[in-house]
Amino acid sequence: MKILFYDTKPYDKNSFTKELQNYPNIEIKFLKTDLTKNTAELAHGYDAICAFVNSDIGTATVDILHQNNVRLILMRCAGFNNVDLQTVHKYGMRILRVPGYSPEAVAEHAMGLALTVNRRLHKSYIKVRENDFSLGSLMGFNFYQKTAGIIGTGKIGAAMARICHGFGMKVIAYDVYENPGLKGIAEYVSLDDLLSRSDLISLHCPLMDNTYHLINRDTIQKMKDGVILVNTSRGALVKTEDLIEGIRARKFFGVGLDVYEEETPNVFEDRSDEILEHSVTARLLSFPNVMITSHQGFFTEEALAAIAQTTLENVRAYESGKESPNDVKA
Ligand code: NAD
Repeated sequence: MKILFYDTKPYDKNSFTKELQNYPNIEIKFLKTDLTKNTAELAHGYDAICAFVNSDIGTATVDILHQNNVRLILMRCAGFNNVDLQTVHKYGMRILRVPGYSPEAVAEHAMGLALTVNRRLHKSYIKVRENDFSLGSLMGFNFYQKTAGIIGTGKIGAAMARICHGFGMKVIAYDVYENPGLKGIAEYVSLDDLLSRSDLISLHCPLMDNTYHLINRDTIQKMKDGVILVNTSRGALVKTEDLIEGIRARKFFGVGLDVYEEETPNVFEDRSDEILEHSVTARLLSFPNVMITSHQGFFTEEALAAIAQTTLENVRAYESGKESPNDVKA
């Protein structure tokens, strides 16, 4: 089985090359370029392609892959909103993905952001490097015995709830379904109750029509003054303009964002030489109590190893003709 990998970074190559030792029948060619209708033809002579979150797998791309006899699309991520599934299935191609890899990777990053903005670690790192050993503006508060509010208690939210519990926090949660695994760790409450009682709010629900701009002027008003908000889920859960208004109104002790609405052109790119136009990100970064990272929650050795292993197991499932829970259906 010959697979062409698009949009690969050195860390993808490393994690897949390590795992490949266990799959002697699979041959991989790594490309830096991403998959679009202009690069799909490169897949000529390959049985499968492997793509990532920003690949353009629309109708035109799928047409070209099909014309070049590609039978299998491997997504090395959970999402597939960038794929024209109808066309994929029309051609009888199969598409498999990696639905979950390491919830702890994202949850630990969420707690990292919470701790950073609480104890102003992003500021103290810079201060000490400049020989400024003063403590001005660095005072935080104990998480111990405070209340953590977790919105969305699936795999990642549950991991975050366990971490907060370990910190000695009271954990309250809101979800459309209760997670039985959190018995004795979290108490389920209404969304309004969570907003008004939490000292730390961490978002872990998916982005859907009914969660779009879940955090907006109204919900921000319901929060406690001095709350810490962390978003490692999807940018559009938070209405950025309203968040900025809330920050200016001194609502937040701190805000930690691994995802934000206008992240798409930035994610995993070095744009340090560019002059960014219309940047809301720059406005957010102007606040001393805001910390932004660039969608790195998933980025641990364990998560990358799990992504590589599941992707190669997906190839095995394809070769054996067996159905898999990782199949993406129409
Ligand atoms: P999951 O499917 O296991 O959990 C999502 C939970 O959200 C479920 O329990 C679901 O019932 C709940 N939910 C659905 N609608 C809701 C609503 N309206 N209000 C409250 N809760 C609701 O997903 P997961 O693996 O825990 O991932 C959570 C999110 O994390 C993903 O949607 C993804 O956007 C994000 N994520 C981010 C990174 C990163 O690198 N920052 C990596 C992976 C995933």
